[in-house]
Amino acid sequence: MDNTKPLGFTTTLVHSDHQKSIEHASILRPVHHSVTFGYATSREVAEVFQGKKPGFRYARQGNPSVLALEEKINQMEGGLSTICFASGMAAIGVIPQTLLRAGDHVVSSSFLFGNTNSIWHTIGHQGMEVSLVDATDVKNVEAALKPNTRIVYVETIANPRTQVADLKRIGDLCKARGILFAVDNTMTTPYLFRPKSVGAGLSINSLTKSINGHGNAMGGAITDTGLFDWTTFPNIFENIKRNNPERMWGAAQIRVRGLRDYGAALSPETASRISSGAETLSLRMDRTCASAMGVAKMLEADSRVKSVYYPGLSSHPQHKLANELFKNYGSMFSFELQDNIDYYDYIDRLKLPVYASNLGDTRTLVIPVAQTIYAEIGQEARAKVGIAENLIRVSIGIEDTEDLLEDFRQALKV
Ligand SMILES: *Cc1c(COP(=O)(O)O)cnc(C)c1O
Repeated sequence: MDNTKPLGFTTTLVHSDHQKSIEHASILRPVHHSVTFGYATSREVAEVFQGKKPGFRYARQGNPSVLALEEKINQMEGGLSTICFASGMAAIGVIPQTLLRAGDHVVSSSFLFGNTNSIWHTIGHQGMEVSLVDATDVKNVEAALKPNTRIVYVETIANPRTQVADLKRIGDLCKARGILFAVDNTMTTPYLFRPKSVGAGLSINSLTKSINGHGNAMGGAITDTGLFDWTTFPNIFENIKRNNPERMWGAAQIRVRGLRDYGAALSPETASRISSGAETLSLRMDRTCASAMGVAKMLEADSRVKSVYYPGLSSHPQHKLANELFKNYGSMFSFELQDNIDYYDYIDRLKLPVYASNLGDTRTLVIPVAQTIYAEIGQEARAKVGIAENLIRVSIGIEDTEDLLEDFRQALKV
């Protein structure tokens, strides 16, 4: 082999565990259940606690099995450091809790995963201010910036209406203004897109979705891409500055304040399960993206369908943007039937999909959006973010494409 050429995405991923020698010639890193870690002398314990010697202290803020997963995600993202959490929401919630203070301002895309929107609502009552903008155009982000704006936050492809953020131009804007750019990469995953490539300082992934991919584990991760200059960030605590090199300030504050204080630690068993799931990410994504494109195209061509929202379709308003940014267009799309077709009845005629929330499962999942995941906010708020009452969300699984096409087609026949 040519040793100078970097290995591919999946080759690196599946061989990552055994790059470090493991007992009994195991090729997967074992699950370490231990809550605490003991050392030969009390002096050694002190050195570990002071960071003078590498080692684990207490599993809430670090554990060998979770570290194995953190290293994998970090490799996938091309990051400086990755911190895992018990869920995607734990990772997202930790960002304002560890990095923001009262009086700070956030500019966020208004096209967001519903629970992230709910976090912005919560911090609005804690003395921070959030401006929601249409982030498909950098101009709206720029117009909302204030002297106290600390973070610009967007999703790559928004769930469920698939709006694509103007990622490259927002990244350039944040760089010019010295603002931290945080990107939720869940819908694209590091296989389709690296937020680092557009200048993001933080990339967030819900591991529950495509990265684990089997609907049997929850997890989340924040990757510090290494691009943001933390010495310019006013909210780094003095003890973090004292005990860590400058480039690690952000990751250290997120780990120490986020995991140690708030405690939403990923369990070692779950980390190990997610590690296995992630090995087939590229295979699953290639398949699900191809099927999503096929089904979306078939639906769009049928007169009984009013609209289909999938960044892979040339009719999608940000199709060109998605084409420039991503390796493929993702496993999720949403669509509206003509008004004379009952959407509950259509969904119930589908034989293969499970009627459920969640995304990125091996099985295709279908859900009426307004009546379930967007029921809480009410019709007026739904209309503002472009969610029609008859919007149906589809997360395509790894079933055979022909079977999916046939099923979505037959369900149109009344
Ligand atoms: C599901 C999801 C989350 C939250 O992840 P959980 O692991 O369910 O907590 C965050 N962002 C996006 C875009 C998601 O789809």
